Amino acid sequence: MLYTSTRQNLDHITATKAILQGISNEGGLFVPTQMPKMDFALEELANWSYQEVAYRVMRLFFDEIKDEDLKYCIEHAYDEKFDTKEIAPLVHTKTGHFLELFHGPTIAFKDMALSILPYLMLTSKRYNGEDKDIVILTATSGDTGKAALEGFANVDGTKIIVFFPQDGVSDVQKQQMVTTEGANTFVVGVKGNFDDCQTTVKEIFGNKEFAAEIAEKNYKFSSANSINIGRLIPQVAYYFAAYGKMVRDGKIAAGETMNVVVPTGNFGNILASYYAKQMGLPIGKLICASNSNKVLFDFFESGTYDRNREFFLTASPSMDILISSNLERLLYHISGESTQTVNELMNSLKKDGKYTITETMRQNIKDFYGGYADDQTTKAYIKKVFDEEGYLMDTHTAVAYAVYDKYVKETNDQTPTVVVSTASPYKFTHSVMTAVDAEKYDGISDFELLDQMHELIKGDMPKAMDHIATRKIWHNTVCKVSEMKDMVNQFLV
Ligand SMILES: *Cc1c(COP(=O)(O)O)cnc(C)c1O
Repeated sequence: MLYTSTRQNLDHITATKAILQGISNEGGLFVPTQMPKMDFALEELANWSYQEVAYRVMRLFFDEIKDEDLKYCIEHAYDEKFDTKEIAPLVHTKTGHFLELFHGPTIAFKDMALSILPYLMLTSKRYNGEDKDIVILTATSGDTGKAALEGFANVDGTKIIVFFPQDGVSDVQKQQMVTTEGANTFVVGVKGNFDDCQTTVKEIFGNKEFAAEIAEKNYKFSSANSINIGRLIPQVAYYFAAYGKMVRDGKIAAGETMNVVVPTGNFGNILASYYAKQMGLPIGKLICASNSNKVLFDFFESGTYDRNREFFLTASPSMDILISSNLERLLYHISGESTQTVNELMNSLKKDGKYTITETMRQNIKDFYGGYADDQTTKAYIKKVFDEEGYLMDTHTAVAYAVYDKYVKETNDQTPTVVVSTASPYKFTHSVMTAVDAEKYDGISDFELLDQMHELIKGDMPKAMDHIATRKIWHNTVCKVSEMKDMVNQFLV
């Protein structure tokens, strides 16, 4: 298995080089040069643990990594830091099959890929004779930073530095970050907004002199962002695991088709389901759910991607995105792997903020169905499913559920469908609780609402939120935007 860039037919590189490098030199994304085919029977999936499924899927993409090394990565990623042995349980309600990807340390689905990325990076480092320690630099608007911190905390040979806008994240998000343990973790509040943090982190990444300076100290920068192939491939396993559980629970027979509906932002998760389908998993429709930032819905409707539009802040903030980076990989695959086409479209996106795909490309995305739900609809579904089925969805999951319901009403397609559930309701207490009862829960602090939600749905409070308000604070550094680089330098002794 080799990897190439979506924008240039460069010499093909190995998976571990692609993981270390993150993004190709000319700005393209790494993609497999051919899609591996599944080499096991669908019946077998029903009996496998999540770790086994992940191993059987990932070894096909990362065949360069020795079995024992890949197993080491998987076993260290998917361990007790998840609050269920199943790692990604499938919960059946009266009307839905919810694949819960939120049982990791930050109770949202980015934990799934960010738990294994550090181990894949260390393995890649070793395979390529790179002896420097890896320094992950991240600017965060709240959630990804914490998931990366948890993934890299206490992983030998790595350090992680997270910058967040001091006054630009929620109290719970801030509390989660500043209470992170681990001697290799550094968290800094910045007197500026998220864009300031992001721009400065990019500048630091691009600063060759500074890179040479820290190389002297035996460090090398890397990024954990969602376009790294080491974050995409582990996600393909979700869909095989979901299929296995649908068979195990008698919802489908091995060989039958299932649909998936995925709440989408950067297009990583749903792209993973497309890869699973290309590998031979019997997925029918790939239902792409957006919130009011419905640039993807419009794309699937019209063949035109157009980011020139109003940007909405919604109750599903992790999907508030107007440029879905991973879509570039889909464009590559549906254009017959034409780097020329991808370059043209990406140049057009850069220049005019939009592009239109060809008729042939549109034919190749027939399996996708795009839908969207605004906040009001999303909240109505949270209430409905809770009242009628006793299942409390978070806002992102509810966007997916709403779009699924619309899809069924529109098409009458009765194919069993897995709703990908990307966050715990405990992560978005205010939106979720006011959806259930606007009057009763409005005006109550997020910390207080955690307890009230616990009272409402019983069960265990997730570890991530338990006693969050009273935890020990380990990080209290605050700096100006202009001091960020110096901070990095100070941390790297
Ligand atoms: C990141 C995120 C998404 C979007 O996933 P993509 O892979 O970026 O499409 C959806 N829901 C939650 C809770 C997220 O954190």
